[in-house]
Amino acid sequence: MKGKTEIDSNRCKGCGYCVITCPRGIIRIGDRLNAAGYYVAEVVKPDECTGCALCAEICPDVAIEVWREEKSVAD
Ligand code: SF4
Ligand code: SF4
Repeated sequence: MKGKTEIDSNRCKGCGYCVITCPRGIIRIGDRLNAAGYYVAEVVKPDECTGCALCAEICPDVAIEVWREEKSVAD
C-alpha cells in the first residue's frame, strides 16, 4: 500500500512527535519557519510513505492528513 502525507505548515508547532513516530523515518523538522515562528515538519521521502497514518494520529495539532492508495488487482 502506498500513502500520501500532507503537513499543514500553518498548524504545525514543530514538536517532532511525527518525526519519532514514523516507522519509515521519512519525516524531519526542516529549516523553514511558519508564520507563527515554528520550524515545521516535512516529509523528505514521500515515495516511501506506506499510508499507515501513525503520524496523523500522534500529531497534537491535527496538522497531518494521510491518503492511502489501495493496490488494484492488476498490480
Ligand atoms: S503515513 Fe506512516 S509512513 Fe507515511 S509519513 Fe506518516 S507515519 Fe510515515
Ligand atoms: S506532530 Fe504535528 S505539530 Fe508536531 S511536528 Fe509533526 S506535524 Fe508538526
